[in-house]
Amino acid sequence: MTTSAAQFERASRHIPGGVNSPVRAFKGLHRPPVFIDHAKGAYLFDVENTRYIDYVGSWGPMITGHADEDVLEAVRQRLESGLSFGAPTEIESEMAELICEMLPSLDMVRMTNSGTEATMSAIRLARGFTGRDKIVKFEGNYHGHSDSLLVKAGSGALTHGEPSSPGVPASLAEHTLTLDYNDAEGVRRCFAELGDEIACIIVEPVAGNMNCIPPLPGFLESLREVCDAHGSVLILDEVMTGFRVALGGAQAHYGITPDLTCLGKIVGGGMPVGAFGGKREIMHHLSPLGPVYQAGTLAGNPLAMAAGVALLRKLRVPGFHIELTRKVEMLCEGLEQRASAAGIRLITQRAGGMFGVFFTDESAVSNFQSATRCRQEDFVTFFNGMLDEGIYLAPSAYEAGFMSAAHSDVDIQATLDAAERVFAKMTAS
Ligand code: PMP
Repeated sequence: MTTSAAQFERASRHIPGGVNSPVRAFKGLHRPPVFIDHAKGAYLFDVENTRYIDYVGSWGPMITGHADEDVLEAVRQRLESGLSFGAPTEIESEMAELICEMLPSLDMVRMTNSGTEATMSAIRLARGFTGRDKIVKFEGNYHGHSDSLLVKAGSGALTHGEPSSPGVPASLAEHTLTLDYNDAEGVRRCFAELGDEIACIIVEPVAGNMNCIPPLPGFLESLREVCDAHGSVLILDEVMTGFRVALGGAQAHYGITPDLTCLGKIVGGGMPVGAFGGKREIMHHLSPLGPVYQAGTLAGNPLAMAAGVALLRKLRVPGFHIELTRKVEMLCEGLEQRASAAGIRLITQRAGGMFGVFFTDESAVSNFQSATRCRQEDFVTFFNGMLDEGIYLAPSAYEAGFMSAAHSDVDIQATLDAAERVFAKMTAS
């Protein structure tokens, strides 16, 4: 039988770091990554057939659980018709209609192959629409790995100590202004000085790439305000939060209407998909209607659309997000109680179907600085202890956790029992 260690060694010979996306490498965790054989519902099964209760969910898409039968069936039904045509298909209209219905701030939407392409294209569109070069982002927010956005980024860029990547020309990075998350005053100050040169603000409406940091009351509103005052475009990056924080995304949950929205993850049902869309007036600037160029050989791929449409339809069951939120609360409150009983200082933060666990003495974590003040060594011990207990958490202190509808109360209870044992060992050592 093969092992994850053997697989990792093999992978590392021809794949940089043995992985095709950096956070998968378990860097700093003192063990090789778990190689997955298959998954079903709330569970991952590795190449040694060990079962894990999974709180990563392929980093978000698996909101109804892995290998959802309805999603698989939708893909099976399309399969025999061919994989790709490079010409329009009806299911692309189905997808666009569904997205625009579920997110009323979107009049039009363009499909891409990843979240990175969605955010990259949205800022190009905002720049083309406004005729301005500067963009505003927030420290610790991650919007994929396009050049303009890899400046003080979160996620793997942060985990691996390279929030601003070499390879991004300084002459490009200088157009990216990075402000503190949740600092409405800082945003107002920046716009007072440079507002008329700023094409757009791009923001994670709940930051999920420096653990899980919800917006403070008034923060998202301040972004809307300054964009309106200065003719800048407000882009909500809902790649992670879309269809997860609420059916209508964070924009419905917090009552903020963006000009453009970026989507990914859930919208593809686990297939490589992203999307960006918004006001007709802005989207009309996109090629072939307008001059801002954006394209994709495989964009709107029919199999990917079939998976995404099938998944989005399932989320419209009444009460879906209420139940998902209840499960997140059960997990988070349970973790806090058990940590407190063991004398471990830990807090949780959550928004709908996403959550974060912080080893910190602070009562709340609201920005990059406080996220990076958390006790990294406690996270590593907790992560490894939980993995040994069959609980698969995000392998970085700077990533959010994801709940799925497939997690039962029994799964969550088993997770809490495991955490209790791990906390006991942490205090004993
Ligand atoms: N935006 C956000 C908020 C994300 O969380 C991510 C990926 N985790 C991206 C953009 C980039 O998406 P992708 O990895 O599909 O390129």
